[in-house]
Amino acid sequence: MTIALRCRCGQLRGQVDPGRVAARAVCYCKDCQAYGHFLGTGVLDTAGGTEVAATLPAAVRFDAGLEHLACMSLGPKGIYRWYASCCRTPIGNTPRDPRTSYVGLVRACLDAPDAELERQLGPLRCRVETQSASSPVASSGLSTAWAVCKIGTMIVKARLGGGYRENPFFRPQTSEPVKPVQVLSLQERKALTP
Ligand SMILES: [Zn+2]
Ligand SMILES: [Zn+2]
Repeated sequence: MTIALRCRCGQLRGQVDPGRVAARAVCYCKDCQAYGHFLGTGVLDTAGGTEVAATLPAAVRFDAGLEHLACMSLGPKGIYRWYASCCRTPIGNTPRDPRTSYVGLVRACLDAPDAELERQLGPLRCRVETQSASSPVASSGLSTAWAVCKIGTMIVKARLGGGYRENPFFRPQTSEPVKPVQVLSLQERKALTP
């Protein structure tokens, strides 16, 4: 049983293995908010949050519309932020180095109702960077520590076991991203700060 990935217009499609999702979280950091503004309206929740499912890139597969997959970064050292260029649906965020096996799949591309995500991935308890939320959000303390621990274990295991080599966002030989990366200038980045 997999969870379908689908951009809003349906051209970019794929799937993720829910058994390999380590945690669910909502991030309220300023970078994720700037990225939300870069993509357009309807990406962030009412407090400026972005919900992600933390998993291994190896658990993700694209089945159609790969030509629409695009990549940007908020700065020369920023993480890679992948989205569907056809309809500007966020897909997932990855580190720049594929040896760190992580992708935060954004809720917007998970083609399943909340109840199904809850059943397959467990409850959403973890809220990070809450001090940057645009309206008050309670921080999640221990569940955050637990999520960080689970994600850390996932990354270390993939590194040691070699599983990190399987990654649809990077070319296996060169470790280069599969798409050109649009890196924003400082001015462009500032213009996205609300
Ligand atoms: Zn689309
Ligand atoms: Zn963030």
